[in-house]
Order: sequence, then structure tokens, then C-alpha cells
Amino acid sequence: MSLLAEDTAAADLGVRWKPGFRVLGPAFLTELRPTPLPDPYWVGHSDAVAGLLGLSADWRQSDSTLAALTGSVPVAGTQPFATVYSGHQFGVWAGQLGDGRAIMLGETEGGLEVQLKGAGRTPYSRGGDGRAVLRSSIREFLCSEAMHGLGIPTTRALCITGSDARVYREEPETAAVVTRVAPSFIRFGHFEHFAANQRDAELRALADYVIDRYYPACRTTDRFGGNAYAAFLEAVSERTAALLAQWQAVGFCHGVMNTDNMSILGLTIDYGPFQFLDGFDPRHICNHSDTSGRYAFNQQPNVAYWNLFCLAQALLPLIVDQEVAVAALESYKAVFPREFEGRMRAKLGLTDSAEGDRALIEGVLKLLAAEKVDYTIFWRRLSQHMADGNAEPVRDLFLDRAGFDAWLLSFSERHAQARSPGQRSEAADLMFKSNPRFVLRNHLGQQAIEAAAQKDFSGVATLLNLLETPFEEHPGADAYAGFPPDWASTIEISCSS
Ligand code: AMP
Ligand code: MG
Repeated sequence: MSLLAEDTAAADLGVRWKPGFRVLGPAFLTELRPTPLPDPYWVGHSDAVAGLLGLSADWRQSDSTLAALTGSVPVAGTQPFATVYSGHQFGVWAGQLGDGRAIMLGETEGGLEVQLKGAGRTPYSRGGDGRAVLRSSIREFLCSEAMHGLGIPTTRALCITGSDARVYREEPETAAVVTRVAPSFIRFGHFEHFAANQRDAELRALADYVIDRYYPACRTTDRFGGNAYAAFLEAVSERTAALLAQWQAVGFCHGVMNTDNMSILGLTIDYGPFQFLDGFDPRHICNHSDTSGRYAFNQQPNVAYWNLFCLAQALLPLIVDQEVAVAALESYKAVFPREFEGRMRAKLGLTDSAEGDRALIEGVLKLLAAEKVDYTIFWRRLSQHMADGNAEPVRDLFLDRAGFDAWLLSFSERHAQARSPGQRSEAADLMFKSNPRFVLRNHLGQQAIEAAAQKDFSGVATLLNLLETPFEEHPGADAYAGFPPDWASTIEISCSS
């Protein structure tokens, strides 16, 4: 029975809640209520996520729902809380962090945790105001749903609710709350927290909870002599490797791959200064605060491994044998290249593998990098070339025509080996399904943000619609699929959010 169930002012979302993470007990969390934001309004919402939660079709019609998702009214059946974690930030141990502005409502019967990000201060706010600004909330909302549309594991977002309440960053801005949804928001940093504090009982309880809930196969494994914790580390390594392969293939730069921003389920989590590459630059740094380039695009796969190593160290008291822990991490090194090549082969329209594919992939990436060719447009035009045989639009992207022609010849020969000419349209279909026409480029987000600041939220809805199905053509939406304007390269996105 919830403490808040009798609260007459509570909003009933029509969702049944279960204890979820709260069963772990007070060492893991602090119960608290969100801090209300005044005069809330809807900024954006996802019907798809509403459907996942089982909300009724008219869920946004109620003022009390709007108030509840902005922290002013409790949600019936919930006992909200913030969780504690620690982590390594920019390669340095940062000590205790925790949910400084995300407040968990609870977990639905369907197994989805629901969080209000930007809902006020918590014991883990460390001097922060517990708020999120409209700008970063729009970016997180749209990118969560964009990643899902791309088929990339991610936390989801139900909605953004805004308020004219002032929030101070480099300049005054306004506040917003993103209602985030995921099977679990547990991070590597949750494990690091209890390991660093030598709280082995809590560390074990957390690992057991995560294994039983999300990795039950580890209980019956015969890997590592039946060591469930080692099998768990291996499974997380594999999921993380598969995630990183998808990021690299689509050209997604996360920007703040601290261990507290690494999901134990291998989801993309905590959207801050992320960027989808415009021109292909492997060394691109999307976070203006990352002066050393620790989280540059081409560093991401190595950083993920470094982060997994931190997780391994945290799990060592449970795994016991250091060599076993190292062996469990090894899977990353096998899975990442395999998954990455698989994703890139699909982008090339190839369904089988052949010797020389790696050279074909490296060859095209080298050409793209040499001239910083637009990554998304290149792949889409190459797909079109597969469909209609016209190489000119894709060729036009390169100054080094001879270099590109040589690569295209090897690409065509590879396809000729793989299939008869009649199968060309199958290859084109695969390419259109593997190479999105729409990604959330910085300038597109920026335009939607600027309009939203003037209370025009149509840009958010338009982008959401395109990004939910980014592989579809969406006739009439050329403006969202074109080259970025010159001013796009001047957008500076920092950790400030
Ligand atoms: P991030 O880099 O956004 O993942 O945040 C790192 C840590 O800082 C987490 O513990 C966040 O909860 C906390 N944090 C970030 N912004 C704020 C804020 N405005 N108020 C309180 N805590 C914050
Ligand atoms: Mg974070």
C-alpha cells in the first residue's frame, strides 16, 4: 500500500506500480518528493512511449497529470526517491554523485521505471539546483526517441513539461522536466559506489538484484565455472560492445562517457552534449567542455572498454578471481569488431561476409574523413545509387573523384560477386533500412529549441515525427535531410544543461 495512496490531490495515471528498485532499501536511495514548478505547460510528448506505459488515449487532457509530471502533485501509488551512485568523470574518480536532479516515481507493473529529470534538488545535488533547462530537455527527449527510431538501445522519454520558472546557467533560461522511461536506470557507477565504500553486502545485493531481474541466464551459466558475477560482467561487456558498434556505425558521439553515464543494460543514457556527426571527422569532439578530447568520436570504443574495466574492478569482490574478471572483459574485444563490421556491412547492402570487407569499410571511412564528407548524406546517396544505378549524386560529394571511383569499383565488384543483377533491389532495400535519412543534427535541434523558447512547440513535434521513422522517405521533408547550414559548426554544446 502506497504512502501516497490516500492523498486526495494525487494524479492517477491509471498505471499500476510495483516496488522495483525500492526493494533494495535505504542504503541505495532516499525517498523524497519532487519540488513543484509553477504554471506548467506541455512542450512535447511521445504517443509511442505513452502506449508502452499503457496510458489511456487522453492521458494529456488532465491538468493533474501535467502538474504531476512537473512535480506539483504526487502520482497515485508512487513513493518517489533518488538513488545514490558514484563514478569516474573524465578519467578521474569523482566520488559520490547520485541522482542530483532525476527523481524516480517508481516501476510500473510492466517493468518500466519512470523518472522525472529536472524535478528539483535531492541529497545528491552537490550544490546544483536540481533543475534542467528547456534546451537540454528538448535535446534529451528528441534524441531518446531518435535513437529508438534508429534501432539503438536507449532510455525513452514520455514527454517534456515546461515552466517559465527561471533557471540560471551561463544566462537565465527556463526550466523543464523530461519524464524518462527505461527498464532500469542503474549505471556502472551504482556498483562503483558500493565497491569504493567497501560495502560488500550492498554490492552483492545490487548485483543479485540486477542479475535476477535483467540477466537471469547468468544464474545457470557454465561459463567461468558457474561464476554468475563473471558471467554478468561478460554479458554487460557484450551489450556495451554491441551498443558502441551501433553508435560508431550511425555516427553518434555521446560526449560524456563517464562511468556514471554508462547503463548496466547497455542503453544509451544521459543525453548531454551529444552530436550526430555532420561531416565525417573521426576525431570530432562534440562536448565543448572536453578540452583534451577524451570523448572524441573515435575514442568511444576504447573509453567504453575503460569504463567496463572500472565496472570489473567494482565487481571484483564478487567475482573474486582477478584473472576471471579479465577474461570476462575479453568478450568486448571480440564483440565490438564483429558487431561493427556487421553494421557497416548492412550499410553497404551486404548480407554475407567476405575477405576484403574490412578493407572496403576502412577504405570508405578514410575517403569520408579526408574531405569530411557529410556522413548521413553519403550513406543515403550510396543507397540511392544502389537503387537506381546513378553514381553522380554520391560522386559529387567528393573532390577526390579518382579516389572515390576506385573505391566504388571495388564496392560494385564486391556486390557483383555476391549476387546476380536482379538482386540489386534487395541490396538497396537493406541499405535504405540501414542508412537513415534523418538524424537529430545539432542545427535541427537548435531550431526547434529557439522556436520552443517562444512557445512554438511545433518544431519539436515535427522532428519527433521524422525521427521516429528515420529510414522512411517522408516526402516534403527535404529541409530536414539536407546539409547543415554554415552556422551549424558554430554551435557550442557543453556539459551545462
Ligand atoms: P551529468 O554529467 O549530467 O550526467 O551529471 C553528473 C552529475 O551531476 C549527476 O550526479 C547529476 O545528477 C548531477 N547534476 C547535473 N546537473 C545538475 C543540476 N542542475 N542539479 C543537481 N545535480 C546535477
Ligand atoms: Mg549523468
